[in-house]
Parts: sequence; C-alpha cells; structure tokens
Amino acid sequence: MRLDKLLVHAAYGSRKQVQQLIRRKQVQVNGKVAVTGKLKVTPPQDQVTVAGQSVHYQQFYYYMLNKPAGTLSATTDKHQKTVLALLSTADWRQDLFPVGRLDKDTTGLLLLTNDGQMAHQLLSPKRQVAKIYQAIIAGLVTATDQQTFKQGITTKAGYHFQPAELTILKTDPQQQKSWIQITLREGKYHEVKRLFQAVEKEVLQLKRLQMGPLTLDPALKAGEYRPLTSSEIEALK
Ligand code: URA
Repeated sequence: MRLDKLLVHAAYGSRKQVQQLIRRKQVQVNGKVAVTGKLKVTPPQDQVTVAGQSVHYQQFYYYMLNKPAGTLSATTDKHQKTVLALLSTADWRQDLFPVGRLDKDTTGLLLLTNDGQMAHQLLSPKRQVAKIYQAIIAGLVTATDQQTFKQGITTKAGYHFQPAELTILKTDPQQQKSWIQITLREGKYHEVKRLFQAVEKEVLQLKRLQMGPLTLDPALKAGEYRPLTSSEIEALK
C-alpha cells in the first residue's frame, strides 16, 4: 500500500498532515528518508518510522461489545447515543462500524470492525450464520409455538420467516412470563419480535449471546467491550 495511506491509517493525521511529515524528512522506510507518499510499502516486512519511532500498522480492528439497552446500532446519530460512542478515544476510528443491527432496546453481542469483507460474510443470507438470543416473553410459550417456529412462519401480511429453533428455558404461570432461547439463521428486521407477534406474544427483553462462532464474553458488563482474541478472529474467517 502507499506510504501516505499507511500513515493515515496508523493515525498520523490527514493525508495533508502526513505529506508534511514526509516533506520535513521525518519519515523513513527501511532506514532511508522517504521522499514521496506514493512509495509502495508492505508492512510488516518494510520498517516504517516517524521521527525515529516505529509505526505500528494494523489493517483490521475487531471489538466485541456487550451492547447496553438505549444505544443505537449505528455509527453516528444527531440525537441519540450510538454504539461507536461507547469506545474510548484511543480505540475509536472513523472506519469502524457495527456488524448488523440490534434494536435500541436489545442488549448483548455486537461486533464492531472495519473489515467489510468479514462483515459481509457474517451477514450474507447465503451463509445462514446462526444468531442465538435469549429473551423474556410476556405469556406462556408452548410446545405448539416451538413447532410453529420450527416450520417457519408466514405472517398474516404474507411475510415469510425461515425455521427458527425455540427452546423454552422456564415458564412462570404466576408471572405469566417465559424465558426462552432462540436460534435464527436469517437476520430480518425485528425478527425475534415479529416471530413472537405472529404467535400473539410480546418480547419483553432480548439479548444476543452468539453470532456464528463468536460468543459474548460473560466478563463484559453492559456497555463494555474488548478486542477479539486472535483465535476468535481466526474462527470468524
Ligand atoms: N430480533 C429483534 O426483534 N430485535 C433485535 O434486535 C434482533 C433480532
């Protein structure tokens, strides 16, 4: 990649600022002063330094976030807090985005990255990546609901949802509430809520626990995040 692009990526400033660094002879590649930002470099084989300090270059960033309720799965919003605003200034980058969307009131696993290809692979309907959620439902979820979900649902409006695996974890007739786990392989808008609407039940709380091979780290409290480990990144590829 071009030297100036690499330095912009590595947060040494805008392209203009980076050009100034080069003009001031602050940038060296393999021990030689670089004279142009157009120079092609291949990290990590090529050693790039700015003012004598080694440049750490990383192309892709991956963070696992435990999304809290009340935040938008978006990069920016004029009025409401987004998931990107939960990152510290040291970790925030303009090219990061959330992989898919969770509703504002949904909590749990959300991947933030700047790797568009990986995001596409995780979200592509062809790949049928499993998404696992736990939810609290108003009403008592039944074996008939499980069967209905297993067959796939076509709503009154003619909207079709693929089969989903529904596990009943607990029902409480006194509170008229159920605790369930559901696995989806498509990612339609408000899918869990609309599936339960189709069996005339309401989702009270929804949390995503898993997306493909990635499982929410139980050590992350709501609003906390951490970089993916190298084995988690490998598993996603
Ligand atoms: N299904 C929903 O209804 N909401 C979400 O946030 C995710 C899946």
